[in-house]
Amino acid sequence: METILTTTMPDLVSPIRISIQGCEYLVDFGQGVNPRFHRVNKEKHCSCNTPSCPAIDAVREYLLDGGQRAPDPLPPCPICGAKVSRDPKWDGKYTHELGWRCSQGGVAHFLQQKMERIRKNWQEHPFLIPPTPGYPGVRRDEILTYEDLLPVYRKAAAEGYDPAA
Ligand SMILES: [Zn+2]
Ligand SMILES: [Zn+2]
Repeated sequence: METILTTTMPDLVSPIRISIQGCEYLVDFGQGVNPRFHRVNKEKHCSCNTPSCPAIDAVREYLLDGGQRAPDPLPPCPICGAKVSRDPKWDGKYTHELGWRCSQGGVAHFLQQKMERIRKNWQEHPFLIPPTPGYPGVRRDEILTYEDLLPVYRKAAAEGYDPAA
């Protein structure tokens, strides 16, 4: 997505181009401006380290103009605290959880936190369907994959339980 902004800055010949790159805005002042490219993040900080950089104003104007917002940056890796980046390959098909990879630990850290979360959830809520007199119930750890879970979820829903609760 690229937006061409009609600028209010008189000394610029070419229009400013703003596009979204990752979680930041890439501001292109065109040839003849040095540095030509500036990256402005959500904290209104520009990559050129100038606090009053015109790129920051350009992004503000672009947003006020209804420009598309850059996606919010992901929180740091819960395993090691390093920066993470989006990895749509690991998006949860059923949970809609956003996939990511850790800059230090890669996808392994994503999977590790996912498994730890599932394990914790299973420890806290061991039963998908609680036992009732004459019915042994269904424990989560008897079931291995989500596909295996589907009939159980359906059964649970039919009996008025919410297995995700
Ligand atoms: Zn700048
Ligand atoms: Zn990590």
